[in-house]
Parts: sequence; structure tokens; C-alpha cells
Amino acid sequence: MTRFASVYPLVTARALAREFTYEVPDEVGPGAVVEVRFGNARRRGVVTEVDVAPPEGIEAAPVERVVEELPPALVELALWIADYYGSTPARALTLVAPVQRRARGERPQPAERDALPGEAQPAALSASQSAALDRIVGALDTGETANFLLYGATGSGKTEVYLQACAAALERGRGAIVLVPEIALTPQALGRFRARFGERIAVLHSALTEAERRDERARIARGEATIVVGARSAVFAPVAGLALICVDEEHDGSYKQESDPRYDARTVAAKRAALEGAVAVFGSATPRPESWGRLERLELGGRLSGPLPSVRVVDLRREAGYPLSAPLLAELGGIVDRGGKAILLLNRRGVAPALHCRACGTTLRCHNCDVALVLHGDRHLRCHHCAYAEPEPDTCPVCGSTELARLGAGTQRLERELEAQLPELERIRLDADAVARPGALAAALARFAAADRVVLVGTQMVAKGHHFPGVALAAVVDADTGLGLPDFRAEERTFQLLTQLAGRSGRDAPGRVLVQTFQPDSRAIELAARHDVPRFLAGELERRRELGYPPFRHLVRIVVAGPEPGAPLQALAELKEGLAGDDILGPAPLLRLRGKFRAQLVAKTEHPRRIAAQAGRLLSAAAPAMRRAGLTAVVDVDPQSV
Ligand SMILES: [Zn+2]
Ligand SMILES: [Zn+2]
Repeated sequence: MTRFASVYPLVTARALAREFTYEVPDEVGPGAVVEVRFGNARRRGVVTEVDVAPPEGIEAAPVERVVEELPPALVELALWIADYYGSTPARALTLVAPVQRRARGERPQPAERDALPGEAQPAALSASQSAALDRIVGALDTGETANFLLYGATGSGKTEVYLQACAAALERGRGAIVLVPEIALTPQALGRFRARFGERIAVLHSALTEAERRDERARIARGEATIVVGARSAVFAPVAGLALICVDEEHDGSYKQESDPRYDARTVAAKRAALEGAVAVFGSATPRPESWGRLERLELGGRLSGPLPSVRVVDLRREAGYPLSAPLLAELGGIVDRGGKAILLLNRRGVAPALHCRACGTTLRCHNCDVALVLHGDRHLRCHHCAYAEPEPDTCPVCGSTELARLGAGTQRLERELEAQLPELERIRLDADAVARPGALAAALARFAAADRVVLVGTQMVAKGHHFPGVALAAVVDADTGLGLPDFRAEERTFQLLTQLAGRSGRDAPGRVLVQTFQPDSRAIELAARHDVPRFLAGELERRRELGYPPFRHLVRIVVAGPEPGAPLQALAELKEGLAGDDILGPAPLLRLRGKFRAQLVAKTEHPRRIAAQAGRLLSAAAPAMRRAGLTAVVDVDPQSV
């Protein structure tokens, strides 16, 4: 008997976002990726349902070939993502069935190439590690779908718990996925997994070549690699018999995808665990308030190697010498004398964040965006939002004065000041400018690991997940950079960044931490200096409860952008009238970026899917008018910032 199946062709157009019926061979089931004739072209498609009735009056074409088989749960997961994040099934299915090039010959596995030798398994776990592991393995054995928060300071042994939980999954003939932030996917981290599991490890991240990614997926699909270590998109790895998903550094913003489908890999991990009867473990030293408030907590406590370093707060209202205050220079002088390494965090690139005319008060701004131009070391002013750049002028373009002042400091200026004041220290800069070339990041980290009397200067990249012995000093040059941002996560991010940076110091020897700030009484800075994570999170949850922010309500953000001022605000005002029954803020204007005027609506809601679906319908109805006005719209469910 002829069999028919529903197939979603993987096309991006919203107008074609539906299933089509094709004739399929007997062995095909849900999750099969097939090649089909669609219009005049050949397309890939995903089978979502088999044994459906043939369409009336139309002859269903047979599929041309079967490309691969996905675990059926992944298809269900993709359809859920399309619905929850307001995307199309085809776009969401493309996440689980990415385009594959044909294999060409043998290549070394990426983990083999990139991994450093890993540490051996410790002889014994700490009591809290054992208790956490027992709870996780217990949940694996009873088959309950459980979500745990693995909370412990940097250096408290979270990775060892992931490793042994993965081993437990393997012993039970099942698989595991370990997600890490892209930047933390270091040769060191890979080395630990490879030392423990060898060839059973597959690696998925954006720096792989297309051929490497294809090979790794094929090894996973054949069941040769049963543990996948990777960045955000590895949550879709086709691991069969999935038992465990670990999300390391679960507070990291890079788990959210900022293009359609705007999924959050943490939410997706929890959903996939629920669909497959697996256990999800979210680990962090500075968890999100959402996780702290909702998940069963497994606490590891402090560092295995000793107490956390003491933190000294330097009040910049009283200390001269920004960006290098006297106390900071004294600490760095100690490194010159006694040896060791230092890490300095300044979360701003370039030489100076703004150029300001003392005579007429003009700040030099980007022509396309409502932001100041940043002075860079090549004597160019650059916009950090669009590609605009111009040479640094000698005189003010408005009044002709030569009194142009460089306001503030960026990483390049900090590097120069260090060179002038402490030439004995080797300097390594780590920011988006310095690591633009492939391989530059790994080379910089390797240089830092090998050197003595060395200082690593950089943006938030320096605070993330790198473990170096011999770091005697970690310092935040300007703790205030993130606090002023008009975002409900501003304090949370500042707290996380300071706490994570403090964790880089003194992992193997007594270390020092210095925080320079103009706001020493700010809650985020004060509590980070005391390593008081529970108190910070309790306060943060209290504030969010009062204001109706996550985890108490979901946010849905709708941004409209266009070439004319006023039009985005007006379009959103009309949209708001159609969105009944929820707490909706705005419309409010946003900064102009890349020549586009922008505005946003933010809904606080218990029903994010309903709001997103309503907004999607209203935007579809308004699409012709919006197209004529050159307006574009984005609906973002659970945005990272508003
Ligand atoms: Zn001027
Ligand atoms: Zn710009």
C-alpha cells in the first residue's frame, strides 16, 4: 500500500510555512530528513507525521531520497520552538536538520586537534560533589524529568560533577550533551572531557569548518560519539537515548540566539529534557535569579583549594589616577617585584569612548546611530554599532576649535598607560579588536599562560571560564560601565562580571582582587566584593517580584525600525491597541542604529505564547502597509535585555 507523510519543506518564506503531503517509502518515520520536489526546485524537508490521508484531488509526489534520520523528539522540539518563539516550523526545523555537505575523506576530529592534555580524575569527590552526583544519578535511574541548579563558587568542582554524570549516562547506554558559552570552549575544557572519554566525545561550535561539523554530526548520528560538548546550537545534537544535558555557566547571555528563531538554549534544554525523559543540570557560581528561584538546588559550596580571595573596593571619588589608581599601581608593582600574572577588566574597547569639544560642547557622533564615536589606536573614530569610521579630526567639525578632549578610557588606552607606567610588565590585550583574526584568541591565552610578570587587559572576555595558575591579581578598572545601562539586568550582569572576575584570582595561591568604582555603595558592587551570591539573588528576586519581571512574569519585546522618525512609534501604538489584557509598556523610542529609527513595546505577561502569537497576527495583517513605509518588526520572547 502506498504511504503518505506530512513533510515541512525547509524554506524561509512565512507564506509557505505549512506541511505538504508526499509519498514515502515504508521505512520512513517522523524525523526523517528527505529531499523533495517543491515547485520547480529540489528542497530538503522534514517528515513530521506518517500514514496521513492523501490530499484530495492532488497527486502526491514521492520523496526523492532520504538524507538522514533524526530522533523524533527533535522534530517535536523544533515545532515547539516555532510556536513558543513565534517563528516558522521550517526555520525551527532547520536548527535540528542543518544543511550537510557531502563527506570528503578523513579528517582528524576537532577535539583531537584542539584539546590540551586534561587533568586526571581526582581520587575522591568532596562530600558536596558526591551528594550532588548522587541526586543527579538517582534522577537518571528513576527516569524522572528533573532540572537542577548546580551552584558553587568558581573552583568548587562543577566540571567534575558534569564529567561523572556523563560517565553515569554512558554506563547506562545513553548519551549526554554539555553546553558551554562559546568563549569558554577552550582547549583546557575540551582536554578534560577528551582525557576522560576519548573518541566518544564530539564537539560542535561555530569555529568548526562545515566539513568538520558534518563529520561530527555523522559520528553522533551513528552512535560513535555519545557525549557532545558544544556551544548554544549543540542543544540540537542528534544524540540518541539522551539522558543528560548540562548547561555550564548558565547565567551567560550567549545562550540566547539573537536572530530568528530567537530561542534560548537554556529554555530549549529544559524542554528537550522533558520530551526525552532526561535530566537537565544548570551550573553556575552566579546563577540567574530565574534559576535560583525555580530549580532544585545542589550546592557545592566554596572553592576546593581554599578560601575565595579578599576583594578591595577602591573609591574613585577619593583616589586620583584613573584608569590606574595608586592602589592598583601598587598591586601591579608587587607583580613586577615578586612575579605572577594579573588580569585587568575594562569593559570598553578602543582608546577613548568619546571625543568632546571643550569650546562648544559637541560630542562627535555617528551619522547613522545615536551614539558617540569611539577613538581607536589607529587614530580613527569608529562606531561600535555600524561599520562607520572616519579619521580623528584635528579640529572640532562644528566650531573649528582645537580643544578636543578624549573622555574616559578603553582597553587600548589602558594598555598604553601600563606601558608608560610599568614597562617591566608584559601586556596582552584581549578584546574583539585584538582577537578578530582566527586563532588569535587561543594564541593570546597561550602566551598569557606561559609568561611571568604579565598582565592580561581586556573586555568581559577575560572574566570567562579561563583557568590559569599563578594569577595573583584580578582587577576591575571601571565597575560602573554596565550599571548605568537602562536594563533590568544591569545590576545582575555587573554582579556576575565582578564575581566571575574575582574567581580568576588566586586559584592556586593567595590572590588579590581590586574593584575601582565611583559607586562603592551600589548593591551589585558591595555584595560582589563580599562574594555574597545568596543575598544578591534574594534582593534581586524581591525587586523583580515587585516590578513583575522574570521569573515572576515573562517578557515579550516588540521592536519596530524604519527610515522615518515617528513611524515606528506610531506603528507600535496601533499594535498596542490590538494586544488586550496584559501589562504593556510603551511604545518608547530607542536609540537610532544603522540609520534606522527604532521603538519598542514590552509586555509583561503570564502568557508569552499568546502575546507573541497575537503580535504575529497583527504584524502580518499590517505587513503591506509596513512594507510600504519601510518598517521591519521583531518579536522577541524572553529577551535578554529590554
Ligand atoms: Zn566645537
Ligand atoms: Zn553607527
